[in-house]
Amino acid sequence: MNLIFNHPPTDEMQALDAAHHLHPFTDGEKLAHAGARVITRANGVILTDSDGNELLDAMAGLWCVNIGYGRDELAEAARAQMRQLPYYNTFFHTTHMPAVSLSARLADLAPGDLDHFFFASSGSEANDTNIRLVRHYWAAKGKPEKQVIISRENAYHGSSVGSASLGGMAQMHAQGGLPIPGVAHISEPNWFALGGDLDPDEFGIRCAMELEQKIVEFGEDKVAAFIAEPVQGAGGVIIPPKTYWPEIQRICDRYEILLIADEVICGFGRTGEWFGCQTMGIRPQIMTIAKGVTSGYLPLGGSIVSAEVADVLNGAGEFFHGYTYSGHPVACAVALENLRIIEEERLIEHVRDVAAPYLSEKWAGLAEHPMVGEACSLGLMASLALTPDKAKRAAFDAPKGTVGLRCREASFAGGLVMRHVGDRMVISPPLIITPAEIDVLVERAWAAIDSAYGWAKEEGLI
Ligand SMILES: *Cc1c(COP(=O)(O)O)cnc(C)c1O
Repeated sequence: MNLIFNHPPTDEMQALDAAHHLHPFTDGEKLAHAGARVITRANGVILTDSDGNELLDAMAGLWCVNIGYGRDELAEAARAQMRQLPYYNTFFHTTHMPAVSLSARLADLAPGDLDHFFFASSGSEANDTNIRLVRHYWAAKGKPEKQVIISRENAYHGSSVGSASLGGMAQMHAQGGLPIPGVAHISEPNWFALGGDLDPDEFGIRCAMELEQKIVEFGEDKVAAFIAEPVQGAGGVIIPPKTYWPEIQRICDRYEILLIADEVICGFGRTGEWFGCQTMGIRPQIMTIAKGVTSGYLPLGGSIVSAEVADVLNGAGEFFHGYTYSGHPVACAVALENLRIIEEERLIEHVRDVAAPYLSEKWAGLAEHPMVGEACSLGLMASLALTPDKAKRAAFDAPKGTVGLRCREASFAGGLVMRHVGDRMVISPPLIITPAEIDVLVERAWAAIDSAYGWAKEEGLI
């Protein structure tokens, strides 16, 4: 206990960390040189580090701490469940109340006939489940040839072999020979970077039509599903043009393929509805969830599937798939408590009616900065593009992400956790954020951009 609550001096922890801890998505050598920032506690939207600095966490951890930090109710739910039944599995004809209640609750919350739930412990695992599930589904319907899953460049669907293959991150594919066979990628609807001379609406249609071309190229009888995030998160909070999703839905309706909405970030209030597919007006047969379902207090993920998909699966004998922690009772109990708080405290209404409109107005003001090419938001996710030339939507004459990294460092130094994806800055704050906290967020974001701007000018990048 002592080591965690009464910690040794920061440099000792950093040395131990560098000596023994391999960090995800991190250049180990650079980290060892700089030393990791040690976060020791958090409350509401504020993190505290081991030197006592306070940071406004505009990323909600990794897009997940929807109800904010420090909610005792979740700790109590975990404690009570651990004392009654800390673990039991859901294999071999067994179940328990937390898994039963959470499945039923999610069936209630999910739109349409999305009413069956397969449990995992993360978004990556859930998307691995989806790969096997959709292929098994088509085989069960007598169409084992329908194997190909179409996804998008710059999508993020997780980091396991399967889910990283679904994702469209070139740097991830380059390490370890991904993607696996049977996954194909189309363009992302990123107008700022790829739209050229087209207006956003035309560009949205053009991107969506690539799905149709891909289906025709493989043959409808070979394609199992299309997977996409309603709004790309880790790819840089790319909000698609408004023409995009209706056209994708039309194509999914026309061809016999399943639509998988990866709601790992968009789900549970982030867009101002329970799920991003509701905001976008689409009707997926499968949704991936994780992150916000427990507000990150414990790991939990899974796939919500339609009644039709569930019927086919249930009629197809044993599905040889599952995880030791599928339906972990403590994670389910925490999820239920988290969902209760989101509902009873009307956090989705807070996002829709208060926080998102306020953020939208303030965040748009950042576009007045000479180095900001666009500043957009949807619900409580927002991004902006750093550029040396707004009119041309130009990229910097430096490796991608050079100025973005500088901006992120300035942001941290200024008391704000804002992330960079290349030269886009992104935020996704806890849903409980207040207008006064949004003022602080935007003020610090401006200061960080300005600091990076000064640096970029000195370096001759502008
Ligand atoms: C984070 C994320 C995942 C992966 O979830 P993990 O819990 O990190 O495995 C999958 N899809 C999307 C859209 C995500 O943002």
